[in-house]
Amino acid sequence: MKFISTRGQASPVGFLDACLSGLAPDGGLYVPETWPKIAPAGPHERYVDVAARVIGAFAEEEIDGETLQRICVRAYKSFAHQSVAPLVQWGPDAFLMELHHGPTLAFKDIAMQLIAQLFDQALSQRGERMSVTCATSGDTGGAAAAAFAGATNVDLFILHPHERISPVQRLFMTTTGAGNVHNLAIDEDFDACQAIVKSLFSDRDFVARSGLSGVNSINWARIAAQAVYYATAQAALGTDRPLRFVVPSGNMGDALAGYVAARCGGLAGFEAICAVNENDALRVLLHDGKMSRASAVATPSPAMDISIPSNFERLLFEASGRDADLVRQLYEQFAQSGDVPLPDRVKGPLSCTGLSARSVSNSDTLAEMKRVYGETGWLICPHTAVGTSVARALPESDAVTVVLATAHAAKFPETVEKATGIRPDLPLRVQGVAARDEVFEHVANDVSAVRDYIRARQRA
Ligand SMILES: *Cc1c(COP(=O)(O)O)cnc(C)c1O
Repeated sequence: MKFISTRGQASPVGFLDACLSGLAPDGGLYVPETWPKIAPAGPHERYVDVAARVIGAFAEEEIDGETLQRICVRAYKSFAHQSVAPLVQWGPDAFLMELHHGPTLAFKDIAMQLIAQLFDQALSQRGERMSVTCATSGDTGGAAAAAFAGATNVDLFILHPHERISPVQRLFMTTTGAGNVHNLAIDEDFDACQAIVKSLFSDRDFVARSGLSGVNSINWARIAAQAVYYATAQAALGTDRPLRFVVPSGNMGDALAGYVAARCGGLAGFEAICAVNENDALRVLLHDGKMSRASAVATPSPAMDISIPSNFERLLFEASGRDADLVRQLYEQFAQSGDVPLPDRVKGPLSCTGLSARSVSNSDTLAEMKRVYGETGWLICPHTAVGTSVARALPESDAVTVVLATAHAAKFPETVEKATGIRPDLPLRVQGVAARDEVFEHVANDVSAVRDYIRARQRA
């Protein structure tokens, strides 16, 4: 199985290379050359077995079945629930899929725990070492810190926007106590952190000399890992019933994983409604057919405060009939003008992908958290509330609705308290983070300062 770039100017690579490099050298995103066929998950199949099968479909010939099984068992042993992504009933035909049973209470753990194992496997096989860098609006950083803490062949550099993430989110990244995890608090917003990481990667020399790699939401291994729970949800709820997923969305990695699960077979029909907050670039893309750059505004669901969803590029590639020249042109144009209409010939296919998007206001998000608490006694996180709010407004259908619960309420205690009057406690298993010392360094919004920081701290 080879992976090709959505911009068509990079050589095809294998699964592990696609995973280790993140972004393709031509600036595009890796996608499988052809979609593998994956058999539906069985109702008695364990999560780790489905995971090994799904990842195996993309990694065939590079990782043998036994090794992959061991990798998946290791990745998910830190989860507090044996089903990894359990379903809980919310209404007669509606469920929440809880994706927050990992070590840092957000769905990012599901992919990141697996990626860390894949990196370990690939790097020790090759006798190499890497510096992994990522920008985070809160949850990715914690998940990466937990997954890579203590890794012998990876140094991790996490950039977060100084004082713009929740204190609990910060605790998960800054208290690992691991010498290979470095936290940089950047004096600007998340987009600025992302821009720094992007320019680090555009410095080919630095990338080569530092063995620099990324684990942001465009990494193919993350998409593959996230496709697994769409398959297990279908198995649990019955393969004869169509499911309608509601996916709280930012960079669209999670929703795209659903699309991938559907492309590879095993889902009875496919519909995913991306639930976005007031940063609604994804709704504009899918419904108005326009790539339009607006700067992100702060909302109660910060992990979804994204100005343009990076994984949309993969969907565009498919909708254009895999026309890499067109994708490259559109993104070049977009980089210059920040405003590009999608050609008519991709709009039709886009509307047939099963994906759509709806936006929820800040005040509706808070009201929704309160309403769900009243109905069920559950405290839900603000991102999940954007999802349940969208689910509530969907037209009647024969489908079973599955809302992805992307984080635990205790990760956003201030917002939950504001909405419901109740401050959620951290689950017992993670309460230790609050007592540990935080380690992070305040760094200016400046690429060369960050580059120097990485150079000085990476192990030779
Ligand atoms: C990252 C994140 C999202 C958005 O996921 P994408 O894959 O970027 O669309 C939603 N909710 C939470 C809690 C997150 O951490």
